[in-house]
Amino acid sequence: MTRLVTNPRHGALRNLLTIADLGPDVAAGIDEVMNLTDSFVEVSERTIPKVPALRGRTVVSLFFEDSTRTRLSFETAAKRLSADTMNFSVATSSVKKGESLRDTIETIEAMGVDAIVVRHSSAGVPLQIARWAQSAVINAGDGWHEHPTQALLDCYTIRQRFGDLAGRRIAIVGDIRHSRVARSDVAAFTALGAEVTLVAPPTLLPPSLEGWPVKVSHDLDEMLPELDVCYLLRMQRERMTEALIPSLREYVTRFGLDAARADRLPDDALVMHPGPMNRGVEITAEVADRPNTVIIDQVRNGVAVRMAVLFLLLGSGTGWGGEVEG
Ligand code: ASP
Repeated sequence: MTRLVTNPRHGALRNLLTIADLGPDVAAGIDEVMNLTDSFVEVSERTIPKVPALRGRTVVSLFFEDSTRTRLSFETAAKRLSADTMNFSVATSSVKKGESLRDTIETIEAMGVDAIVVRHSSAGVPLQIARWAQSAVINAGDGWHEHPTQALLDCYTIRQRFGDLAGRRIAIVGDIRHSRVARSDVAAFTALGAEVTLVAPPTLLPPSLEGWPVKVSHDLDEMLPELDVCYLLRMQRERMTEALIPSLREYVTRFGLDAARADRLPDDALVMHPGPMNRGVEITAEVADRPNTVIIDQVRNGVAVRMAVLFLLLGSGTGWGGEVEG
């Protein structure tokens, strides 16, 4: 098995800032996370879903941007591994009094933490923190840049249904330009051999797609019958500085996944979404609740995937306590 980048202080992985951090052979790195995730899914299904793998370790969540799923998911993952957790709320912290990011990190580290889970509206902030910090840093979403644990849980969810991603046809639909999920997903899905097509109006695509191993389409209807996965994105209005579509109504007419469009997908095709969904925009309420819409599976798998990531970063590498009865 190809090893991940060796971390002398913790396990095999030093930080998880991007999908590329999973090692020179990204597919092997993802496989390692997926295999470990299988074990943690089993732990999550126990009556007492907890193992002592990270007892004595401390994980701090540092979220400068809103989050429901990711923050709760990391916190649950850390607790199921018996780590201590600290929650940093920017709104009630000294950041509001003008404290710099560097001083904030030094202050947190002085209390003795092992991992910092960070979300920020600016791309590159987790990397900057990783340069300063002694702790392992996990990127929980930075601006338009990356959201690696989302991509890992997406890979796991697709693998769970189809066995693997090789040759699977995946459309990522919507506001790709502002989506860190799209960037991490493209890197992860293509590393595992999937064929990815970005489907969006030209204004919602990145200004340059040079080096992206993807196809592009502006016509969702034409794509539907061929897809294994239809991955929908939210319109990231908080990152839009100008009007990029004539109207939301027109967007919905061309790109919204309604019942008629969902019926044109192959029977076993999956509908995915990283959340939060805007029902009635990128997906109708009825399609959101169909059996092949696996959004809840994505959330459920997210906890086990994040357990795997925390364990790879902080575990001793000598076992994860799977022998402990639940
Ligand atoms: N939750 C995802 C993110 O943080 C997707 C979204 O917000 O639309 O990027």
